[in-house]
Amino acid sequence: MEKTATGTVVWFRRDLRIHDHQALHAAWKRGGPVACVYVQGFDEDKLARAQQTWMSQARKALHRSLMQKYETSLWCCKPSAHGYESVAQALKTCLDAIGATHLFYSRRYEPDAATEDDRIEQLIKEGGFNARGFEGHLLFQPMEVDKWMSSGKRIGRAHYGTLLPMLHAFKQMGDIGKVLPAPPSLPCLPRDSQRKLELVCTSMTKKKSQKEGALAPWADKLMQAWDVTEEGTRKALDEFIRQKLQKYEAQRSRADLQAVSCLSPYLASGMISPRTVYAASLQGEQGGKQSPVSKTFSRRLLWRDLAYWQFYRYPHLSHKPLRAHHTSHAWSQNREHLIAWQKGRTGFPIVDAGMRQLWHTGWMPQNIRMATASFLTEYLNISWLEGLSWYRDTLVDHDLAINSMMWQNAGRSGLDQWNFVIHPITSPKSSDPTGEYVRTWVPELAKLPTRWIHQPWEAPDQVLDAAQIRMEVDYPTRIIDNLEDARNATLKQTLDMQRSADPFFHTVGGYDVIWFRDISSAEKEAYLSSVDFQAWEPVFVHVFTRKELRHAGSVEERTQKTPTSSPVPSTKKSSTARKRTKVQRASNQTLLRRYYREAQEDTE
Ligand SMILES: Cc1cc2nc3c(=O)[nH]c(=O)nc-3n(C[C@H](O)[C@H](O)[C@H](O)COP(=O)(O)OP(=O)(O)OC[C@H]3O[C@@H](n4cnc5c(N)ncnc54)[C@H](O)[C@@H]3O)c2cc1C
Repeated sequence: MEKTATGTVVWFRRDLRIHDHQALHAAWKRGGPVACVYVQGFDEDKLARAQQTWMSQARKALHRSLMQKYETSLWCCKPSAHGYESVAQALKTCLDAIGATHLFYSRRYEPDAATEDDRIEQLIKEGGFNARGFEGHLLFQPMEVDKWMSSGKRIGRAHYGTLLPMLHAFKQMGDIGKVLPAPPSLPCLPRDSQRKLELVCTSMTKKKSQKEGALAPWADKLMQAWDVTEEGTRKALDEFIRQKLQKYEAQRSRADLQAVSCLSPYLASGMISPRTVYAASLQGEQGGKQSPVSKTFSRRLLWRDLAYWQFYRYPHLSHKPLRAHHTSHAWSQNREHLIAWQKGRTGFPIVDAGMRQLWHTGWMPQNIRMATASFLTEYLNISWLEGLSWYRDTLVDHDLAINSMMWQNAGRSGLDQWNFVIHPITSPKSSDPTGEYVRTWVPELAKLPTRWIHQPWEAPDQVLDAAQIRMEVDYPTRIIDNLEDARNATLKQTLDMQRSADPFFHTVGGYDVIWFRDISSAEKEAYLSSVDFQAWEPVFVHVFTRKELRHAGSVEERTQKTPTSSPVPSTKKSSTARKRTKVQRASNQTLLRRYYREAQEDTE
C-alpha cells in the first residue's frame, strides 16, 4: 500500500460487482481515495434494448452495494460527444477533478472493444495519468489461450476450434487464481474532491429518481423475471450449487425441470465473475485436490472462453461466415417465416415455447436455443445472421462472442459446425418429456395431454375439444407442412454451394478449409503469389464438416475445376494474375495432397 497514495478512478463497464473485481481490489490496495465511475452512453449504444435495461438495473445494484459497504457512490459521467476521444476526455476530467493519478478498469475482449480500450488508455496516458486494464471477464485471456490453440499442432484427433483443444489449453495454462473478496474498505473522497466531482459527474443517488433513458415497456417487463441485485446474484449461484449442480449432468437438457443455473445474464453484465462460478462448482477431494462436481458444467465456462478466443482470432465472427465460401449460400428471404419464428407462432410448440420465453424473460435454456436456431437455419433455411440479430435484441444475457460463435455453428459456417439437426417433434422427447415447458409458454395448449402436446395437429378432434383448442384459431397452423422436404431443400442448397465453391475451400476428404488465422489482404496476396508458399504454413486449416455436407472428389477432378470464387479475386486477367492463379492452383494441389494424407489418417 502506498503511504500517501493519490486517488484512483475505477471505471465500471461490464464488471458491475464488488467481489472478485481485480481493478477495484488494486485500487483499494493502492491506498488513496477511490472514485467509482461509469461513463453514460459508453458501450450502451452497442447493446440492444433487453440488455440495456438489464445493465441499467445492474448499475443501480452496484451503486447500492457501494453505498452499503463503503458509503460511496457510483458516479455517472457524461461525455460531451460520441466516440472514444470524448470518453477519454470525460475520464480525464474526473481524474483531474479529484486529483487522482490512476485509472483502473476491467478489460473487454471483443476485437473492436479491445482496440477502443487501447486507444482510450493511450489518451489517458498522454494526459499524464496512469491507466491499467485488469482481467476478470474470462477465466483466461484470449491471447493466452491463443498461444496453445494456435500452436499449429492438432491436439490428438480433435478438430481445430472445438472444445477439446480448448480443454487441453486449459490444462496447460494452469490455475485460474484465487477468487478475491470485496475490498474490506474503500477510502472515501475528501469533501472538496467530492464537491469537485459533482461538477463533472452525477451521483447515482441523485440519478435514482430519474429514469435512465426511455426504455421500451416490453424490456422493462422482462425484468420482472429476474432479481437484478447483488443478493439476487448470490442467491442464483447458491441455489444452483446447493440444489441443481449434483443433478446437472442428468438433467441439464430438461427444459421442463429448470435444471440449469440461469447465471448467464449475471455473467454477461459482470455482476458475478466466471472465476467465482467456477470455484463454487468445485468440490474437495481426498488429498485436498479440488475437482468439478459436474464436468459438463465447468466446461460450460470454458465454452465462454472458447467463444472469446474465436472472436479474438476471427474478428469477423459476428458478421461473416468463418467458412468463407458459405457467403454464397442461398438463404430464404421469407419474411413471414422469420416473423412467425420471432413471435413464437410457427405452429411447432417447442419452437414457439422457446421464442415466447425469450420474448417474455429475455432468456432460454441452451437446448431450446439450439432447437430454435436449428429450426431457423435447417428447416426454414433462414440466415443465421437473422437469428443472431434477433437474439441480440431480445436476450438479457446477450454476449456478442458467444452469440456469434453459436449462430455461426448453427448456420454451418462456424469452426464447430453442429453435427446434428434438432427435430422439432422428436427432440422434445428428451428436452420436454412432460410437456410442462410447452404448457408454461404456450398456455393455449396447456390442457392437451402430453401425448399430443408437441404435435397438436395430430390430436383427434375429441381430444382438441376436451382441451378447448380450435386449431388455426387458438393455435397457429404449422408454417411448414413437411419437415423432411424442408430439411432436404436446405441440404440441397448447402451441397450446391459446397460443389460450386473453389476447390481451395475443401480438403480431398471433403472437409471445409479456412484460413488458419485472420490474415490481412496484403499477407494473403503475398502468400498466394509466393512460390515458396510452404514457408508460410500453417495458413490454412481444415475444420470439422458434417458427413452429409462433405464435398469429396478426386484431387484431379477438383483441382482441374475452374474456380468460381477465390479468396483473392482478381478483376483483370493480367499476366501476373494468370501466373498467380497458376501458383495458387499449384499450392492448392500441395495443400490438397497434404490434406488427403491427413484425411486418410483421420478416421474420426
Ligand atoms: C444460438 C445460441 C445463442 C447463444 N447466445 C448466447 C449469448 O448471447 N449469451 C450467453 O451467455 N450464452 C449464449 N448461448 C449459450 C447458452 O445457451 C447460454 O449461455 C445458457 O443457456 C445460459 O443459461 P445458464 O446460465 O443456465 O447456463 P448453464 O448451463 O448453467 O451454464 C453456465 C454458464 O456457462 C456459459 N455457457 C453455457 N453454455 C455456453 C456455450 N454454449 N457457449 C459459451 N458459454 C456457455 C454461460 O455463461 C452460462 O451462464 C447461446 C446458445 C445458442 C445455441
